[in-house]
Amino acid sequence: MAWTVERWRRVPGLEQRFGDRLAAAPDAVVTLRQVHGRLVRPVDEVTGETMEGDGLVTDRAGAIVAVSTADCVPVHLMAPAARVAAALHCGWRGSAAGILAEALGLLGRRWNVRPEEVEAALGPAIGACCYEVGREVRDAFVARAGPRLGTVGFEAYGDRLAFDLRAFLEAELRELGVAVVERVGPCTACTIERLHSYRRERQTRGRQLSWIGWRG
Ligand SMILES: [Zn+2]
Repeated sequence: MAWTVERWRRVPGLEQRFGDRLAAAPDAVVTLRQVHGRLVRPVDEVTGETMEGDGLVTDRAGAIVAVSTADCVPVHLMAPAARVAAALHCGWRGSAAGILAEALGLLGRRWNVRPEEVEAALGPAIGACCYEVGREVRDAFVARAGPRLGTVGFEAYGDRLAFDLRAFLEAELRELGVAVVERVGPCTACTIERLHSYRRERQTRGRQLSWIGWRG
């Protein structure tokens, strides 16, 4: 089951899925040891599963890249003409640190892909309905992204803040020039019968895998 991006089904050779509890991944997916940072690597740089980073880019047939999440946002980027795709693990720390700009920067440097050629999809992740954060989280976004973009997704109620991380990521992608941004799938914490939720399940070790790449 799980979720795919409808408009990407017509892209020849593209394999893509936002997984759920039951989704079976393709045989050989390439992953990193995720550390909530902003480092994005080309897949040909990866030498083992202990290599750290929070995003992978693939242009190689048969090299499917994946991230695992449970509340954080799995983000897929795809440039159909250049046949380049990326899987990013976007928690609040990596997002505040600028992982989206890092990923788009790598696409530009290495593949000459402009943001206007990139389409993005944001998979199932915790929503503002279930995600209360402290002021230090908003401060971290404002410190890098400024007072306008950096406050997107935050909603104050009383002395508390609710945060819609996907709303921030969508706004930043558009600001960076990405023309197509889609949200796919529900709030993880509202949907634990289908999805792992780190917050809702009290720090479960369960994760869902999301993958993208080109068939060999
Ligand atoms: Zn929710």
